[in-house]
Amino acid sequence: MEIIADLHTHTLASTHAFNTVTEMARAAFEMGHKAIAITDHGPKMPDSPHIWHFYNLMRLPQQIEGVYLLRGMEANVLDIHGQLDFTNEEFARLHPDWVIASIHSDTLAPGTYTQDDFDELWTKIAQNPYVDMIGHSETRRYLYHYDMIARVFAQNGKVVELNANSVNVRPGSEENMKQLALACKRAGTPVAVNSDGHSIYHVGKVQNILNLLEEIEFPQELVVNASMKTLVQTLKQHNKPIAANMEDMV
Ligand SMILES: [Zn+2]
Ligand SMILES: [Zn+2]
Repeated sequence: MEIIADLHTHTLASTHAFNTVTEMARAAFEMGHKAIAITDHGPKMPDSPHIWHFYNLMRLPQQIEGVYLLRGMEANVLDIHGQLDFTNEEFARLHPDWVIASIHSDTLAPGTYTQDDFDELWTKIAQNPYVDMIGHSETRRYLYHYDMIARVFAQNGKVVELNANSVNVRPGSEENMKQLALACKRAGTPVAVNSDGHSIYHVGKVQNILNLLEEIEFPQELVVNASMKTLVQTLKQHNKPIAANMEDMV
């Protein structure tokens, strides 16, 4: 299996990352990728860009440095009811190409919640029409019932991310990652394999997840960023205008 687009990356618009949009896109092109999603953190994280960043990001060209640019964000979950740090009005005005919803301990502290609470949280997010992908949800401290919620994600057309960086920043996540991937396989839930790269040295580095998918014989047709065909199909299902321009590469 081969990955043709990294759907989760950060630029130095967030101060914990180190390269520009241009450098990230060029690095993706040099790896043979066809597209890259630029997804800096929503405004409630400590080092997030100002909301103006996102308005201007959406005005960048759809194609730069030889790759398609999916202009997006990693929205932060703010509470157990699945509220995000972009309002629906902001999403409607921005019309991003790719929206990730992720839990981070800075904006939702773990500890007092149950698995049922996180089931409820992810169910609410699955029903949010502006969300495209569920970010690094295998985190140990935010356990939910994978089989039940993978079905909810599938029913709502959400993509579940398998995040290659989790093993570095969320230690102890390997077994949960496998269980989540298996649940997606059983439920027929689409997944994406991403680096969550914070520099050109990490973009597209996803071999650990590809190894896992091979081990569990995960069907390639459920991996939305394993071919242009599935990626464009997914973007179309999510009503993204950029899909029409990408079709010539299918
Ligand atoms: Zn994240
Ligand atoms: Zn991230």
